Amino acid sequence: MRLTVVGCSGSMPGPHSPASCYLLEAEGFRLVVNLGNGALGGLQRYTALNRVDAVALSHLHADHCLDMCPLWIARKYSDEGPLSSIPVYGPAGAAERIARANDNPDVTGVFDFVTLTPGRHQIGPFDVTAGHVSHPIETFAFRFEQGGRALTYSGDTGESPALVDLARSADVFLCEAGFPDLPGLPPNLHLCGRQAGQHAARAGAGRLILTHLDPENDPGPNLAGAAGAFGGPVTLAVPGQVTDLG
Ligand SMILES: [Zn+2]
Repeated sequence: MRLTVVGCSGSMPGPHSPASCYLLEAEGFRLVVNLGNGALGGLQRYTALNRVDAVALSHLHADHCLDMCPLWIARKYSDEGPLSSIPVYGPAGAAERIARANDNPDVTGVFDFVTLTPGRHQIGPFDVTAGHVSHPIETFAFRFEQGGRALTYSGDTGESPALVDLARSADVFLCEAGFPDLPGLPPNLHLCGRQAGQHAARAGAGRLILTHLDPENDPGPNLAGAAGAFGGPVTLAVPGQVTDLG
């Protein structure tokens, strides 16, 4: 299983990164996890758009799904003619959300929307466990397992016992750290680096990668906070970063 960070900028694209997008590959299958603003451009560095096999959306905030609009155009008006539809796993209302953003109800022509529910789903070679996490709208975190390895992605979330369960003994825990570590953080929205580190420690994860990084803030304190709370290796996500899980 190979993880490529396409975009790791939190809440909006930044000068050095698109918003949230990750490419997960195994056995020749290419799963795009989230497609936030600006991500479709970066994604083309790592895969041709007609080679994307499926998309999974953690939730329907703009910075996690809006580049489904240009993916729709790329697939519908491909030089090869309209491409066959691909499955798009997302929360209830994903088709309507993307149709609204596109101002066109025809998005189901190239996407087969599958409504996610908590529990297990098979997406290509990935054994996926989805679970609700703590965010203002319905949001899923994902645990991807393949070839005896496990990767957990937090989605957007405040503190969440369910996220600890999903990250239990994961080889790699890709966790959001959208907040700076300041007093009085609002609950059920985002984590700071220290909280991400605490979740990784409780889960016994192998290594932690911080993502959803605020482009207007220095991520250094978040990295230090996570390292102080988690005994394992911690790094910041960077666009183009490739992690092979074996
Ligand atoms: Zn969000």
